[in-house]
Amino acid sequence: MNDPIILVCIPVRSMHDPITGATIIRCTRCDEECWLAPSSLPALSSVTVICSPCAFADQQVLMRDFGGFLPGQLEELIRELKGTTDITLQ
Ligand SMILES: [Zn+2]
Repeated sequence: MNDPIILVCIPVRSMHDPITGATIIRCTRCDEECWLAPSSLPALSSVTVICSPCAFADQQVLMRDFGGFLPGQLEELIRELKGTTDITLQ
């Protein structure tokens, strides 16, 4: 059986200006309120959400392979950083 995919989210208390359209979700370990980006929403049924402090405190999480970005996640981040809604990755 495969390990569940862990989605690490930033706590609301740590980021007061989240990505556009972000919603609040709770860490499954400590119940901390975290930001969930719109691109992550479709994956919710197949991931385990934990906050970044829980992720950094868990050696087993840190030792796992980085699974990459969810569909649309990288584009969403770049778009937010550039402040534009029209971007294409090459
Ligand atoms: Zn947590």
